[in-house]
Amino acid sequence: MVERIMIDAGHGGANPGATYEGRKESDDALRLALAVGDILKNDGFDVVYTRTEDITQSVGQKAALANESGADLFISIHRNAAARDNLYNGVQTLIYAPGGLREEVAQNIVNELETVGFQNLGVDIRPDLVVLNRTTMPTVLVEAGFIDSDKDNQIFDSKFQETAQAIATGIEMSLGHPEGITPEVPPRYTVQVGLFRNKIYADNLLLRLKRQGYPAILDTDPGTGFYRVRVGEYDQLDQAVDMEQRLKNRGYTTFLTTL
Ligand SMILES: [Zn+2]
Repeated sequence: MVERIMIDAGHGGANPGATYEGRKESDDALRLALAVGDILKNDGFDVVYTRTEDITQSVGQKAALANESGADLFISIHRNAAARDNLYNGVQTLIYAPGGLREEVAQNIVNELETVGFQNLGVDIRPDLVVLNRTTMPTVLVEAGFIDSDKDNQIFDSKFQETAQAIATGIEMSLGHPEGITPEVPPRYTVQVGLFRNKIYADNLLLRLKRQGYPAILDTDPGTGFYRVRVGEYDQLDQAVDMEQRLKNRGYTTFLTTL
């Protein structure tokens, strides 16, 4: 069940992102991130931010904040830029890989933004972006129009609240979808011990854990598509907590999560 949503205002501080006629992507992103967050908070979600001020953050720092936050969903807000001014316009969402909640959220956000007046450029798969490939929860990057498009800036400014609402609605309708993460299914707990892009490292860790007698499992992380090594499946949280403590005592870096 998605309860906590982290919203990232792209770039910031010394890194303004794209700029156009004195306008900075980092400022637009922050304003929009806070507006989307306000709507989600009003609707009962636990909203956290990577930044609420104009501070400098690397994409690696943003991904680390997301992973430490306990968020169930990560939304990174940006504005796009083209090679020339007024070359393109429209909204787009970026995800690490197809499938799952992230694709549903990504699709719903661009569809909702289209109703505000933006051209819908669809969902793009970008496995190379750090905020998409280092975060451990479903993550969607939103390009809220081109900052170097007068047409998009006109919509962004004159329909700012509608734009924020469209992003929030896109998120919320995905969570309400029966194929999304539904609250009716009781959670099962597992202890994640490693997440790897390279299967060899995952296999090595799996083997070591099994030799030590742990009920280790290798599967694919639904959020990132990476190889995940985890121990046990528990209906009771305290059983998972006990297992996590045993693994920690043996020096493993662990992460308690739900299935
Ligand atoms: Zn950007």
